[in-house]
Amino acid sequence: MSYTSEVLERAIARSPGEPEFHQALREVIETLGGIFERRPEFVRWKILDRLVEPDRFVSFRVPWVDGAGEVQVNRGYRVQYNSAIGPYKGGIRFHPSVTGSVIKFLGFEQTFKNGLTGLPIGGGKGGADFDPKGKSDTEVLAFCQSFVNELYRHIGPDTDVPAGDIGVGAREVGYMTGQYKRLTGNMPGGVFTGKGPSYGGSLGRPQATGYGLVYLMEELLRRKGLSFEGKRVAVSGAGNVAIYSAEKVAQLGGKPVTVSDSGGYIYDADGVDIELLKRIKFERNERLTAYRDAKPSAEYKAGGMVWEIPCDVALPCATQNELPKAGAELLVKNGCKAVGEGANMPSTPEAVEVFAENGVIFAPGKAANAGGVSVSALEMTQNSMRRPWTFEEVDRSLLEIMKGIVRQITEAAETFGQPDNLVLGANAAGFLRVAEAMMGQGVV
Ligand code: NDP
Repeated sequence: MSYTSEVLERAIARSPGEPEFHQALREVIETLGGIFERRPEFVRWKILDRLVEPDRFVSFRVPWVDGAGEVQVNRGYRVQYNSAIGPYKGGIRFHPSVTGSVIKFLGFEQTFKNGLTGLPIGGGKGGADFDPKGKSDTEVLAFCQSFVNELYRHIGPDTDVPAGDIGVGAREVGYMTGQYKRLTGNMPGGVFTGKGPSYGGSLGRPQATGYGLVYLMEELLRRKGLSFEGKRVAVSGAGNVAIYSAEKVAQLGGKPVTVSDSGGYIYDADGVDIELLKRIKFERNERLTAYRDAKPSAEYKAGGMVWEIPCDVALPCATQNELPKAGAELLVKNGCKAVGEGANMPSTPEAVEVFAENGVIFAPGKAANAGGVSVSALEMTQNSMRRPWTFEEVDRSLLEIMKGIVRQITEAAETFGQPDNLVLGANAAGFLRVAEAMMGQGVV
């Protein structure tokens, strides 16, 4: 059995009942064989054996009192996955599907993603199985404060800097920042990113993941003589990443024709009305049926997959495993040329195979959605400098970072003899950056 298979098997056996973590381990490790042939010292120093084990993982009780006076108990998590290249950095997710396995998969992916950004940030991730949907503002506040009552012991501007993710936006980051400040007496400075701009948040952070995704895809398309101009783009999700991806596609001359939430999807043949969508989702916090009600020419389909709508480019921006093999086959049948993952691990392994077999340009999440964490790192820089940057400064840096990621992943894919395999390229380039840093620091 090969070295990578042995490590994978051992890691899976040591973490039973964690399917998402196993999927993420498999997806990365199975592509890394070539590296260990070229760099036997990584085997001797057991870099991979160490990398499959997080630095630490905390799980804690989050008790809070709801609006009816009932005590509720949720479970919170933080994984500090790897700090070889900098303080742990990664978002907090509030969603009922959050488990230890989901948090470990996200932390593992984040470690390589952060490596690809070229910025000094290690990998972390956190969250809770709390469902913010339908909760009042005071309930969300109560939950965030209780969550931070434990989390604050583990984080700090030079050790671990959380941000938002599914279910955690500027409001939740603000509440957590306030509670952290109250507990520690410290000015919150750089301890959370994604803060409001009036207390240290970076301009451009809300847009960064979606804009970064589209910048990266535009660069990949350009290298094949293509662009977003005139292209039909299927976007899934209707949250932070989806909305700003759709916005940037439209700015570049493309036509985003779908968005979805967990209830169903909108197909708008005229191109999604971004301002209407923002009002519905960001201001009024409504379901997508409100879009159809406001614009009757758009179609709403309950359930179903946006991937059944013909498109040139697909951007899955909702959640893990939302693009199965059947969705990939539909995309290929309808002539889709490129897929960029805005979400983390949205495509199943079988779907990724379908894309590879059919020559679809496929940009995996750890490269494609790295724009968010990149601007989070720029927010940390601005907090340390005590000097906020303009939106244009941030956006220019984001564009450069995304182009740098394209360069790294395509060069790595070429080095390992599979120039079109960007999954290999992203895994290899991310791994090499982390592995070199671990080698330099001895056995820790
Ligand atoms: P949001 O909470 O803003 O939006 C998530 C969207 O996806 C919502 O429309 C939600 O619909 C939908 N969704 C979530 N879970 C499910 C599910 N199980 N089934 C169907 N639809 C679902 O999250 P973000 O936009 O911030 O994050 C989306 C993805 O992007 C995640 O995978 C996240 O990890 C990843 N990501 C986010 C970054 C960021 O900066 N925010 C950075 C890098 C990656 P509904 O409201 O109905 O639940």
